[in-house]
Amino acid sequence: DDESTSSSYTPRPNPSPESQSSGPRLANATFVMLARNSDLDGAMRAIRAIEDRFNTRHGYPYVFLNDVEFSSEFKRRMSVLTGFNAAFGVIPSDHWNQPDWIDENKATEARKSLVAAKVKYGGAADSVSYRNMCRFNSGFFFKHPLMQKYRWYWRIEPNVQFHCNILNDPFLFMEENNKVYGFTITVYEIAASIRSLWGHVTDFISQHPEHIAEDNSMGFLSGNRGKTYNTCHFWSNFEIADMDFWRGPAYTDFFEHLDKIGGFYYERWGDAPIHSIAVSLFLRKDQIHFFEEIGYQHDDWSHCPLSEDIWVKGRCSCDQKHSFDYDGSSCKRRWDRFMNGS
Ligand code: GDP
Ligand code: MN
Repeated sequence: DDESTSSSYTPRPNPSPESQSSGPRLANATFVMLARNSDLDGAMRAIRAIEDRFNTRHGYPYVFLNDVEFSSEFKRRMSVLTGFNAAFGVIPSDHWNQPDWIDENKATEARKSLVAAKVKYGGAADSVSYRNMCRFNSGFFFKHPLMQKYRWYWRIEPNVQFHCNILNDPFLFMEENNKVYGFTITVYEIAASIRSLWGHVTDFISQHPEHIAEDNSMGFLSGNRGKTYNTCHFWSNFEIADMDFWRGPAYTDFFEHLDKIGGFYYERWGDAPIHSIAVSLFLRKDQIHFFEEIGYQHDDWSHCPLSEDIWVKGRCSCDQKHSFDYDGSSCKRRWDRFMNGS
């Protein structure tokens, strides 16, 4: 039982935004981290970084989600680190596990063939739990009971780093500027993991023309007006976004369409391309925002503000020379060209 091993701290209820009378205005927002108990050290580093660089001045709450119960040690450490402003949830089994309408033989074959194709990234080619995670992040995190009272979220993963002081509140920025989805890094996907995805997206577009936004970002996803997908996507390990969009009719129809096909298990569809395709098609391009000022690191990839002024003001610790922005495998140049017209 939790209580018996966590006597040295007293959990307190989350303060609601309204009850925080001092300090800056808060958006209706939360941080969210999906983690395993074994991610404790990495989670500590990531939360410590975002607290130091941003959240000690704001006090936004945290939601930690896991497919099994968090250990009392995980809860104890995260509660202290977040100033007792954290909630811990278990993911309902039908939001996490492979649905029973997936043909296990076909899924097993698919995992083997991805291994044979030497898809190395994340060691995830053969993993069922990785596929559960991708499906959960695509269609379910915003349905978790602990997320219901919030509109905005900022996704954080264990071991990520924040390299600069974040001087303006990104949630309020999003709200005040009518943004829906914010990113820092955009990359190409491994084609083998999403072989049939674009065909199903194309079907969806013709079945649901009502969901396609005018002034959308198809021009970012495709160099030939949608015939083929260039695999560019926003890296979803960092996301600041509006859950009303994921909860709304366009995305609900889109996720159900894709989930029924089973590509999360018959291939290895990631939540990043799924989210990215959705925001690119169902939103106006001006509703998507690149956060230049947020220095960010995931594994070996980082975004560091290239603007000298922003880098100095943010007292950034990252090396601009190593920023991924215009690396050969980054889609940022494509994004810039797309946003600057033509
Ligand atoms: P990558 O960024 O695509 O390499 O994937 P990660 O291994 O970083 O996983 C993405 C996120 O999901 C991280 O926040 C992980 O902690 C979390 N995650 C991955 N697999 C599991 C799992 O089986 N259980 C839980 N609870 N979290 C997981
Ligand atoms: Mn990761």
